[in-house]
Amino acid sequence: MVGQVYKSTGSWYEVKTAEGKLYSCRIKGKFRLAGIKSTNPIAVGDWVEFELQEEETEESGVIHVIQERKNYIIRKSVNLSKQVHIIASNLDQVFLMVTYNNPTTYPRFIDRFLVTAEAYDIPVVLLFNKMDTYSGEDWEEWQFLIHTYRTIGYHCMEISALEQTGLEEIRELMMDKVSMFAGNSGVGKSTLVNALQPGLNLKTREITEQHAQGQHTTTFAEMYDLDFGARIIDTPGIKGFGVVDMEKEEIGDYFPEFFRLKSECKFNNCLHLDEPKCAVKDALDQGELFWSRYRSYVQLLEGEEDSYRLDPFSE
Ligand code: GDP
Ligand code: ZN
Repeated sequence: MVGQVYKSTGSWYEVKTAEGKLYSCRIKGKFRLAGIKSTNPIAVGDWVEFELQEEETEESGVIHVIQERKNYIIRKSVNLSKQVHIIASNLDQVFLMVTYNNPTTYPRFIDRFLVTAEAYDIPVVLLFNKMDTYSGEDWEEWQFLIHTYRTIGYHCMEISALEQTGLEEIRELMMDKVSMFAGNSGVGKSTLVNALQPGLNLKTREITEQHAQGQHTTTFAEMYDLDFGARIIDTPGIKGFGVVDMEKEEIGDYFPEFFRLKSECKFNNCLHLDEPKCAVKDALDQGELFWSRYRSYVQLLEGEEDSYRLDPFSE
């Protein structure tokens, strides 16, 4: 039988089939997937093949195959420094919610997040929330921010979770897909999810508050079905994507508007810093690219020497 992992408690996995039936599954033997050393062999979102177990209840099974992951997000393992924990897999999209005020979402934060998402190969929809609260200069700057990301090619939506505007379009985008919501504490994630489906209280918030009090809780991601045919992965205690290692030369590739120009740079390994005949620097001087994006890029380059451990929520 084939199903998708909705929940994991460490040794048991709740697997749901296409018909919507839930099975409690265990793993037989050792699983080691190529490429990553992880503390958990199977993550929420994984598609698995399992066999029903005759001798136990009819709802239990044994997983023997994990199907190839389309993508996955990880965080560093708390105890084992070289290992990672796979938070979730097979995400169709992530909604990054941002606000201009209360709290302020800084462009460099958005850019770090987008770079990580590009590296993980996960499409991002930017939700500019609390549009009911802006006026005057705030409104202008807010509009410029939206203009920036729209011009680069990111899907941007202006919404008000509180006044419930933009909800229908979000529901449409979520239909038949697995989504995750990310963003700083206070931007309105819970408000939005509750508006999308009243009664579904994701755990993100309360766990974050526990963390603030210094408590250590082991939490697991969990997938939820929404009434309108969408699925959400809730990642308690995890505000973003975790970390990703990348090479210096790679970073520019995750800024789509720089990557599009790369082939026009004189050097094919151009870092767009002080190299001669750099198409990115030229485009910046011509006003065709955004300086805020370039500043974020340079900041990322100025990280560590060889590899870049990127945690978009570290600031
Ligand atoms: P979360 O931490 O991201 O889950 O944020 P919450 O959903 O808890 O929202 C934080 C605060 O912002 C709450 O007081 C919400 O009522 C408020 N809020 C959320 N969305 C909006 C919005 O669109 N407009 C306004 N004015 N307030 C909002
Ligand atoms: Zn260049």
